[in-house]
Amino acid sequence: MSMHTKNFNMDSFKKPEPNNFKLTDFRRDLHNRHKREVHMRKERLRAVETRFLAKQMITVDTSRARSNCDVVRMCIKELGMKEFPFGRKEHCDIHWHAVSYEENPDLYGGKVNKFPGMTDICSKMMLFRSLDQMRELFPSDYDFYPRTWYMPTQFHEFSCEVRKLTEKKVKPRPTYIVKPDSGAQGDGIYLIRDPVDYTPSPNGKCHVVQEYLSHVYLIDRYKFDLRVYVVLKSIEPLDIHICKDGLARFSTLPYETPTYKNLHESFMHLTNYSLNKRSTTFNRSERSDEGSKRTISSVLRKINLNGKDGDQVWKTIERIVCKTVIAMLPTMRIEYQANIPPGKTKLSCFQILGFDIILMDDLKPMLLEVNSGPSLSIECEQEVAPGIVEYVASPTDEEIKRPLVRDTMMLVVPKEKLKYCRRRKRRLKRLQQEQRESCRSGKRPRFKSEPLQRQRTHILIINADEPDASKREIDVTKQMSEMHLDHYNDSRDQESATSRDAAKDLSEVDMPKMELDSEMSESHDDDTNHEEDSHEDDHDHDSPTSRRESCLKHIYPAIYDDEFERLRLLERVAELFRFCLGVRGSLRIGPTGFRTFARKCRLNRRGMTNASIDIMYIDMQRKFDHMNPERTSGLCFQGFLSSCLEIARRKFYAPTKLEMLENLLDYCEVNICQRDDDMPPTLPRLQYRPKQSSSSYGQSSTFRRKMSRDIREETIEDLLDKTQKNSEIEAFLRQGRRMNYVPKPVLDQPTFMSYNSE
Ligand code: ADP
Repeated sequence: MSMHTKNFNMDSFKKPEPNNFKLTDFRRDLHNRHKREVHMRKERLRAVETRFLAKQMITVDTSRARSNCDVVRMCIKELGMKEFPFGRKEHCDIHWHAVSYEENPDLYGGKVNKFPGMTDICSKMMLFRSLDQMRELFPSDYDFYPRTWYMPTQFHEFSCEVRKLTEKKVKPRPTYIVKPDSGAQGDGIYLIRDPVDYTPSPNGKCHVVQEYLSHVYLIDRYKFDLRVYVVLKSIEPLDIHICKDGLARFSTLPYETPTYKNLHESFMHLTNYSLNKRSTTFNRSERSDEGSKRTISSVLRKINLNGKDGDQVWKTIERIVCKTVIAMLPTMRIEYQANIPPGKTKLSCFQILGFDIILMDDLKPMLLEVNSGPSLSIECEQEVAPGIVEYVASPTDEEIKRPLVRDTMMLVVPKEKLKYCRRRKRRLKRLQQEQRESCRSGKRPRFKSEPLQRQRTHILIINADEPDASKREIDVTKQMSEMHLDHYNDSRDQESATSRDAAKDLSEVDMPKMELDSEMSESHDDDTNHEEDSHEDDHDHDSPTSRRESCLKHIYPAIYDDEFERLRLLERVAELFRFCLGVRGSLRIGPTGFRTFARKCRLNRRGMTNASIDIMYIDMQRKFDHMNPERTSGLCFQGFLSSCLEIARRKFYAPTKLEMLENLLDYCEVNICQRDDDMPPTLPRLQYRPKQSSSSYGQSSTFRRKMSRDIREETIEDLLDKTQKNSEIEAFLRQGRRMNYVPKPVLDQPTFMSYNSE
């Protein structure tokens, strides 16, 4: 036997075990070749994966989903999306956070399930302040929440109010509920009847005190509140969806109107689940129309059975939701602009909000709170033995929250990917059909991926000394492939896990597996694939991959646009505020900005001196100091709005506050637009533009028409006023070359003329 054969043990070729390789030249060569091969394969897989993910897979980052993880994961599986539980270098289509936007501001793309600043905007103090300001302007529209005082700032007003009622001997004596500003789950809440019982927080935290709604609608003698889920799809344009069902949370002690004796009974007066679950009488029924946690639909059915109109109650709730979001919208816009610079065009936000609503005994819904991060947990605690708590699935929670999360995801995912999925699904169906048929007929199925098989590299070990020609070449491709897959299987890295899927796809037959992924994504849609694309694209959330009815109902602008457009006046104030902010990213207006506002709007022409502007600024800053827990200097939007109302009251008198504010805004916008051309480049330009879609702008079309006409008239008249001494320019204007305008006689002009007459 030659030396050559002596060095080779043929058994090792027949069973190529990577661990048994000896580093002879030949084997080293082979090993390197294998490494190169693996590397190339990895690269190819990565490219396939990236292409595949980018084009078709809807990716979801759940690295910060925390307690939402269970339900989000369920929905991801159900919809066939791709989860990234440890985050991803590139941005995902959806970033599902349980925390606020501020905790991850570096995102540059995808849809984030939190709007910036929403936690603050939904804090009790900020929410009821915003609603109060709307109530000042639209008293009959904003009568759906209890009267609120802000402590400690308004302690005096509160005391006076209580004293007045005591003197009047109002019966029954009103009760008040004290809630910590940023509290949740019923923490720190107590009832009082006398202002002296109010205990200020030792660490200076603020409270809201509210009228306690004592005459509430009861079911089986228990008090309850409704948790209504609302999806804010976008704020520009405003797009609101409401979940058609929600939860009703019941207290666990039969309700009695408040007396001194029962004021401390939290299981009677508070309906929070987190609190009542500790009660021994908490009823954990699995049925959705029984127990201490039920569905809203079951409550509405009960109301209908009692001969009342449950549908009407729900419609009123929808209106309350729209009005509340409209009240929050100006602040949301300011926060959004400050946190998401125009460069981040790929990033946008959506959010699920939880509205807590209670029904009065006449079935009038009243808003108690808006929760920026409502619990999406689908488990509940169960005490299996004294002191031992177990978490078990809650069917009622799952019935509501799972469709809510799933349909919210469907609402926000990129439409083009859904189209892709639908197309692939139809193709898959066809291919599966073919496969079944070919199996029956014994033919080879058409979808064996020929190109990929051809790409596959075979590794051969050639033993020249083997006398048997058939054994001279040994194909180790399969073993290598297994080794490769083992490598992927061992990897715990998420990205490698994706590659592993794709590696399997490649090492076997790629196409069918990919198709299966699509199949998963649309498995709940089996009987609908005959639908044409054109039909399927009509609705964005009407289950694009399925004909199943969505649990979300589009309420704004779809239903209530016309009814509530008039309420969107404060967005104009927000626009003025943003114009005066100056520095991007800032949320408060400084003294210079406030002066700039007065100067640009020519408030001096209405008799506002610089000194009065400064005094007003200091006054308002002090008044709204409690809304500034971080003690940053400057005036917040609410303070700015109050200043505007004050200026309007002083200098733009009209029969109602609303008209006064409208007059002020008209005046300011006209003056700013006129001066727009000489604005220093550092200041953001006021984007006064009549928008194309009425839904995306706060003013009614008549109002906009009036505004644009007034702006034109004001601008021309003002110019004429300025240029009266300059007959050349006047002639130029009259020729209408620049403005195409022939001014009317001064006397015919509307009240705007008076602004210039000063
Ligand atoms: P938290 O954020 O701590 O849950 P809420 O404002 O939701 O605070 O109040 C907790 C509970 O207190 C509510 O679920 C409701 O049952 C009761 N409650 C709150 N405000 C009022 C009110 N003005 N009148 C009657 N009950 C109220």
